[in-house]
Amino acid sequence: MIRKTGELDITPEYYFEKEDAMHLTPALLPRLIQAIDHAIETSAEEVTALDQAIGDGDHVTNLQRGIKALTVQADELARLDWMTAWQKIGMTLMTAVGGASGSLYGTLFVAMSKAARDRSLDLQSFAEIFSSGVEAVKQRGKADAGEKTMLDVLIPVAASLRQDAAESVAIADVLKNVSRTAVTGMESTRDMLATKGRASFLGERSRGHIDAGAKTSQLMICALVDVLAEHLTTPS
Ligand code: ADP
Ligand code: MG
Repeated sequence: MIRKTGELDITPEYYFEKEDAMHLTPALLPRLIQAIDHAIETSAEEVTALDQAIGDGDHVTNLQRGIKALTVQADELARLDWMTAWQKIGMTLMTAVGGASGSLYGTLFVAMSKAARDRSLDLQSFAEIFSSGVEAVKQRGKADAGEKTMLDVLIPVAASLRQDAAESVAIADVLKNVSRTAVTGMESTRDMLATKGRASFLGERSRGHIDAGAKTSQLMICALVDVLAEHLTTPS
């Protein structure tokens, strides 16, 4: 199966023969960005309340600044290959978002771009590329799973992708597993003690609230999955 450079073929090996293989190119980015924008907009009050409870309340505003910047660039991003698009998205998020989350989300995409160099993209390599991005976030934030941050969503989602890729799970199920894992990860932060970020200043009082960054990571991942699942059934 010959794939064009920069095209993400997210189908497991055994699908390659089929005509309806799911070819994902950055042309889908405007729709993906719009879906993220909508998801964050819809839950803005809820997330702000979470960040007010154990942070400083600016997480949604920070993120919305980044999403607006990506919306402006959407048409330009749509014409790039994935590696270049991820690099540009990462740089934009780093400069536009601000706060801890800006450099962390920015790092995720810049590291994904680096990991994508000279690789063809299928589900297996995407799982590895995303995992490299998450590893970079861990290093940047000096944090790991269980510290009540966005990593409690990102780490299990990366693991879910790797496992499903290794087992050649059908793409529709891969997407469902990603969404379910993201929601479980987000909810798991409620009872955790925050040991990183502003919430860590509260010590035991950080328990009982979902982490805002975990919530927005989950919302954005689920929004991306919805677009991909729809694209899978009705490619346009
Ligand atoms: P700030 O905390 O600087 O105001 P934001 O409010 O935009 O930045 O983002 C806060 C979110 O960033 C937290 O809810 C948490 O998920 C995430 N976060 C903060 N510090 C870290 C870290 N060291 N590692 C991973 N994620 C972190
Ligand atoms: Mg904040």
